[in-house]
Amino acid sequence: MTSFVCNICGAYNEVETFHTEPPSCTCGSNVRLRALIHLLSMEIFGQSLPLVEFPKLKAIRGLGMSDHQGYARILADKFDYTNTYYDREPRFDFTEHHPQLSGAYDFILSADVIEHIAPPIERALEEVWGLLKPHGFFGLTIFCNPQDQMREHFPDLHQFRVVPLADRSVLINRRRDGTLEIREDLVFHGGTGATLEMREFGITELKAKLLASGFLDVDFLANDLPEIGVIFDQDVSQPLIARKEPYVLDKCARSQLIDEWRAAKNLAATDPGEARAGVLAAQVRLASESRWLRLGRLLGVGPKFDIPE
Ligand SMILES: [Zn+2]
Repeated sequence: MTSFVCNICGAYNEVETFHTEPPSCTCGSNVRLRALIHLLSMEIFGQSLPLVEFPKLKAIRGLGMSDHQGYARILADKFDYTNTYYDREPRFDFTEHHPQLSGAYDFILSADVIEHIAPPIERALEEVWGLLKPHGFFGLTIFCNPQDQMREHFPDLHQFRVVPLADRSVLINRRRDGTLEIREDLVFHGGTGATLEMREFGITELKAKLLASGFLDVDFLANDLPEIGVIFDQDVSQPLIARKEPYVLDKCARSQLIDEWRAAKNLAATDPGEARAGVLAAQVRLASESRWLRLGRLLGVGPKFDIPE
């Protein structure tokens, strides 16, 4: 039995075995999602904070690729974050170029999505790189096969459609040279349509492709973090971070962090006896228990912190 505190919702859980599905916390999180939020926190704060405790920093801009609602709604509360979908609103196709959003995002998250993006995958990875700020990062989880081999299932995909035929789906593809290809060896992840598996990654190829897309370095999370329920015995998705440059909070985010820290500190100093009103009492309790507040100095906002010019 492993007990852990979910680093997304903050709930205490006891779990016998960590499966890929179903989720191991009532917020819907599983091993790979908690690992992804851990990596996000490490990049931004240098500490593994629970997402519910993140300070509100609206100067930090993020984009999600079909993120799970359990953490997407908290991210939207903490940051200037938008979750997007390939097949519904708010729609965002990472295989298309978005020059008006070039260099706009601090982070982009993708939990087990890039195996579903139409080939060539390089087009989407380069677009992610282009959407990120110079110090931005791409946080992702992705299944990588143990043989470390990349398998592109439909390398000649051009104009295609997945259609139902009798009791199964088939893929019809018109290649660039005009010839037709019909395939029925299709693998879907939890549904049909946009969940068609386009490829299987191997770690070596994945890293090479991220570096070739312009990322400076790629860090794979390899170790278990039992205290937050990240144990890789069943879940085989690989969590990783691809960085453009090491992340730094820009001036605007830093000053927001200082404001948030001061406000939370004042709240924590409020006499609990006087904070009888429900909402205020809850805020005082949250502030006084807040780990990021205690970590103020480590985060660069401690009592002796001077606001940089
Ligand atoms: Zn949870």
